[in-house]
Amino acid sequence: MRVHLTATAAAAVRRGHPWVYRDGIAGGGENAVQRGERRRGERAPRAGGAAATGDVVELSAEGAPFLGRGLWDAESAIAVRVFQRTQAPPLDERALAERLERAFALRDGWFAGRDTTAYRLCNGEGDRVPSLVIDRYDRAAVVRLDGEMLAPWLDRLLPHLARALGARGVRSIGLRARASSAASADAEGKKLAHLHGPPLPDRLFVRETGVAMEVDLARGQKTGAFLDQRENRARVRALAAGRRRVLNLFSYAGGFSVAAALGGAGRVTSVDSASAAHASAQRTFRENGVDPSAHDFVTADAFDFLEKAHARGDRYDLIICDPPSFAPSERAKPRALGAYRRLHTAVARVLDRGGLLCAASCSSHITAEDFLATLDDATLERDDLRVRAIHGQPEDHPTLPAWWEGRYLKFVVLE
Ligand code: SAH
Repeated sequence: MRVHLTATAAAAVRRGHPWVYRDGIAGGGENAVQRGERRRGERAPRAGGAAATGDVVELSAEGAPFLGRGLWDAESAIAVRVFQRTQAPPLDERALAERLERAFALRDGWFAGRDTTAYRLCNGEGDRVPSLVIDRYDRAAVVRLDGEMLAPWLDRLLPHLARALGARGVRSIGLRARASSAASADAEGKKLAHLHGPPLPDRLFVRETGVAMEVDLARGQKTGAFLDQRENRARVRALAAGRRRVLNLFSYAGGFSVAAALGGAGRVTSVDSASAAHASAQRTFRENGVDPSAHDFVTADAFDFLEKAHARGDRYDLIICDPPSFAPSERAKPRALGAYRRLHTAVARVLDRGGLLCAASCSSHITAEDFLATLDDATLERDDLRVRAIHGQPEDHPTLPAWWEGRYLKFVVLE
């Protein structure tokens, strides 16, 4: 099956960008994918009139008979995920299994001796296995597919996965529902399906740089935890020494909170709108030998909390602010920037002179410069802070030079 690309899409593929959007497919050429706007209820255009989701397609463009190979998606905005730009080897489950083995072997080296049992085993496009994300939680692994093109491959990949992960102590493999459906709050969309091995525990404790952390595999966010903040949690632990009052906004399962408490903070206030998240955080505190009753867990909207805290005259000398993505799409960007600004203005009002502010954004549509602009002097209404450091995601969330969408995490430390 051949898919003929526009010049722009072909240039992106040559640079190593792993996505071909549907509008990057050229009209013309006898084997080209049919183009044209879809009317309501009409089927999506199909490669060569016959490709189904998960089929291998060959990419070509004007003057380039072979650009590479990828997998076809008949429905989503990303029509092809590019897997290779060479003729050999063939794109089959063996080639995919080899790439996965490479991804796993890298982690063996990265996490040896680090007292860490939870990490991303495969970061999809960033590990050159587009659309396939695998997170490890000790003896369990959770697979998540972005898009459907690898779904028809799962049965064939599973024996390879079970063997490679089993050799590393992973006993059970589960499948998290697709990212797009998991984004909707319905419980059905978040279901964890069993793929291999003994049943996955609903929740378990993992280790992260020497800290115990409860992970809710059955109902948690993402595949259970925000593994991308691992190193930033360790940074917060180091920054917390001697801080009297710490505020962790959007605290979820309390990863930053327990890090601050273990780092020596006097009193840590965790704020999240979900009370179940606090219950999990408190179990994590106890597991680490920290008495949760010496700290505060507030179930509230973060904006409301900040307004009331300001009115009360409360001040904090370390604040961590890691909200959910405000910009799920490019179109949502202006509104998202406004929301970050409002949030940061309110945060700055309760930050002590001499205090530290750790502000995070997990939206790829917001660049580091965009994000810093929501932390400028006018927004914070003060002129005593400097950008001490800008961090991102750790090595188990690798990206590709051309795949800017993969570099989504910003973690700015202001002091
Ligand atoms: N900082 C966390 C991840 C945050 S995820 C960590 O490192 O693990 C986002 C969290 O924000 C979720 O737990 C969600 O319940 C919470 N949340 C979403 N909107 C909120 C709001 N308006 N106020 C308070 N919490 C909110």
